[in-house]
Amino acid sequence: MVIERDTIGGAAHLWDCVPSKAMIATGNARSFLQRSMRMGLNDVQSNVDLEQLKERLRSIESRLEATTRSLLASQRVELVDGTGRLVGPNQVVATLPDGSERSFDADFIVLACGSRPRIPEWASVDGDRVLSTRDAYPPRTLPSHAVVIGSGVTGVEFVHMFESMGSEVTLVVSRQQVLPQKDPEVAAALETDFLRRGIHLFKGARATAIEREGDEVVVRCDDGRTARGSHALLAIGSVPNSEGLGLDAAGVVSENGYVPVDNLMRSNVAHIFAAGDLSGRLPLSSVAAMQGRKIAEYVMGKSGRAPERVIDYDKAASAIFTEPEIADVGLAEADAFAEGRKVRVTKVPFATHAKALINDDSRGFVKIVSDPATGVVLGGSIVGRHAAELISILAVAVTNGLTVTDIHESLLVHPTLAEALSEAAE
Ligand SMILES: Cc1cc2nc3c(=O)[nH]c(=O)nc-3n(C[C@H](O)[C@H](O)[C@H](O)COP(=O)(O)OP(=O)(O)OC[C@H]3O[C@@H](n4cnc5c(N)ncnc54)[C@H](O)[C@@H]3O)c2cc1C
Repeated sequence: MVIERDTIGGAAHLWDCVPSKAMIATGNARSFLQRSMRMGLNDVQSNVDLEQLKERLRSIESRLEATTRSLLASQRVELVDGTGRLVGPNQVVATLPDGSERSFDADFIVLACGSRPRIPEWASVDGDRVLSTRDAYPPRTLPSHAVVIGSGVTGVEFVHMFESMGSEVTLVVSRQQVLPQKDPEVAAALETDFLRRGIHLFKGARATAIEREGDEVVVRCDDGRTARGSHALLAIGSVPNSEGLGLDAAGVVSENGYVPVDNLMRSNVAHIFAAGDLSGRLPLSSVAAMQGRKIAEYVMGKSGRAPERVIDYDKAASAIFTEPEIADVGLAEADAFAEGRKVRVTKVPFATHAKALINDDSRGFVKIVSDPATGVVLGGSIVGRHAAELISILAVAVTNGLTVTDIHESLLVHPTLAEALSEAAE
């Protein structure tokens, strides 16, 4: 049985992964059309029709929801439309939309309530000009000038999306590096591209206040600078949805609202599991889904405690859907050096690759980090077109202990961007 208070498929389908990437796809199509003048096309029109875009998002969302519903129905999963809470270690109560309650006994309980955007007290989000990430998909209007606060993965994706749709953009970056958690070389590649596109970067500036002045928003920073725009968007992290969940009633321990779990996603109460953002592990949809799968396998007795079946979060591939795209997996070069670990790093730029030239987009590079003694692939980063797809090759290698020779001896298609991976592996 699944209790859901909103839309089946969760934030990923409704607000996060899918709508963001659908809008980015429209922005990418627009910039591709503009670039295509260089590829022999002319008279290309590329104005964004916001109504059509919203309709597209609605249609994607309803198709995904229908697919998920029918999958659940085919497995005879009962869906309860309501808000769930624990009232004991084995009891769950759902408050239904009409205010009535249903209660259920359960042998196993999975808490997968996700998270929501963090809104600091100095920002009054009004959903009109001062936006959280949940207000932007679909957008009511395209900002003429968006001030994006936060330069993590979500922030830079918004920067790219707004700019590629025609907005002027200012990015407030609290550190000296855009994407502070990423390999500096990878972050620098994105930063260079942002500057080329005319994006204003306020580096080393922490936003401390957002005020509305007529049709303008004014973002004040701790170094005295102010950024003015038509809209401000906050992308400064998330908080877990655990209030009112009845964790205490079931004796489930939480830390800052997150439910800590062991390797098998068990909370301190062995039959109560937590998955997804609520578990405080890597906040990615792919990770949430894998955790859910692992819990199901465990509960159904299909996986024991075999170590190879346990999720290794250090091997999760992740991507940033900017242009150029950025993707990485496993050990980063900078982390290897920081740990004093001996690694071999090979880097190949796309600039000399046939497919990149055919695509008229030779930005970026691939980088493979491997063990110099064995050749085992430990990690890698890709910056460039289709990086999010290409990283899968390295993800399979990292997860399965494949070597650079395994990659290089695979016969790949020519001409493809993947050939750069083979060359780096060689
Ligand atoms: C803008 C943005 C873009 C992102 N893009 C990506 C991406 O491209 N790729 C990626 O891997 N990750 C992405 N993420 C992260 C990803 O969205 C989350 O990691 C993922 O959605 C977490 O899944 P979840 O199942 O934990 O929670 P959610 O998807 O948030 O689902 C939780 C569900 O629980 C329901 N719920 C909560 N409390 C209750 C209750 N008490 N009773 C009943 N129902 C309840 C909610 O309504 C919701 O449907 C993005 C995040 C953001 C903010």
